[in-house]
Amino acid sequence: MIPADFRYLFPSSVDEAVRMLAEEGEDAKIIAGGQSLVPVLRMRLAAPTALIDIGGLTELTGVRDDGDSLLIGAMTTHYEVQRDHLVQDHALLLRLVTDTIADPQIRHRGTFGGSLCHADPAGDLLAPALALDAVMIIAGPGGRREVPAAEFFVDYFTTALAPDEILIDVRVPKYTGWRAHYEKLNRVAQAWSIVAVAATVQVRDGVISAARVGLTNVGSGPVRAVDVEAALVGQPTSAISEAARLASSGDGYKDNLARVLTGRALTAAVG
Ligand SMILES: Cc1cc2nc3c(=O)[nH]c(=O)nc-3n(C[C@H](O)[C@H](O)[C@H](O)COP(=O)(O)OP(=O)(O)OC[C@H]3O[C@@H](n4cnc5c(N)ncnc54)[C@H](O)[C@@H]3O)c2cc1C
Repeated sequence: MIPADFRYLFPSSVDEAVRMLAEEGEDAKIIAGGQSLVPVLRMRLAAPTALIDIGGLTELTGVRDDGDSLLIGAMTTHYEVQRDHLVQDHALLLRLVTDTIADPQIRHRGTFGGSLCHADPAGDLLAPALALDAVMIIAGPGGRREVPAAEFFVDYFTTALAPDEILIDVRVPKYTGWRAHYEKLNRVAQAWSIVAVAATVQVRDGVISAARVGLTNVGSGPVRAVDVEAALVGQPTSAISEAARLASSGDGYKDNLARVLTGRALTAAVG
């Protein structure tokens, strides 16, 4: 289907994009890689009056070293995240998750920030963002504000972003030397997750000294498996299967999947 008519705007700075959002009102939409928004427009599930294309804002692309954390620009493509050496060294989980997103064509267009803002519960980047304690850096008419991932994902396809705000950067603390794995159950290669588990662990002398575990598509948003994390800390790696039993989604079928996949993810992560 052909999308409904819209005005197409191409800002040259974040401030101009924010101004455009305010001027155009609630019916305007940001477009990033278009990999989720364009299908929605073509199916006429949304009919924004204006699209504000932030694809020209080079300040929003790339991964920067910011001391104890990485700053990932919202417009950094999945392909760029996959190949970034800072991500590889300090946030291995993100690289492994991104490897599983869609196919190479989509990974060249789709963006890190777009995936988080779209907030599809089956989206693969939400659970790792939550598990890694990522912080969203947001620009709006009142200036900049920061929102932790735990408060950013509000509901199905709903985030804490106001209609006149733009996600500009994501701060991810460094997890240097942590091992990681993303265990994704999908029907066919390149399909969305039925359930998936993002796990990253720090292992010292055979003992798990820290763990982060996030669950994809077990509810209206990502879920942090805090009970599993707590049960792992200070334990030998042999404690994984016991701890994985604590994974929960609140849904019978997915509960079982969550437990099985958590066990697999942690076992693969510790190697
Ligand atoms: C066939 C197919 C298979 C896919 N498979 C997977 C998969 O397996 N796993 C997965 O995780 N994803 C998958 N995706 C989705 C893909 O990862 C998209 O890249 C992602 O969902 C959206 O990113 P985007 O840059 O294209 O955003 P867009 O489509 O441009 O925007 C999505 C939404 O976010 C808003 N938005 C975007 N950027 C910003 C910003 N900076 N500030 C404020 N709002 C913003 C837009 O207004 C829109 O509402 C798939 C997509 C397709 C088409």
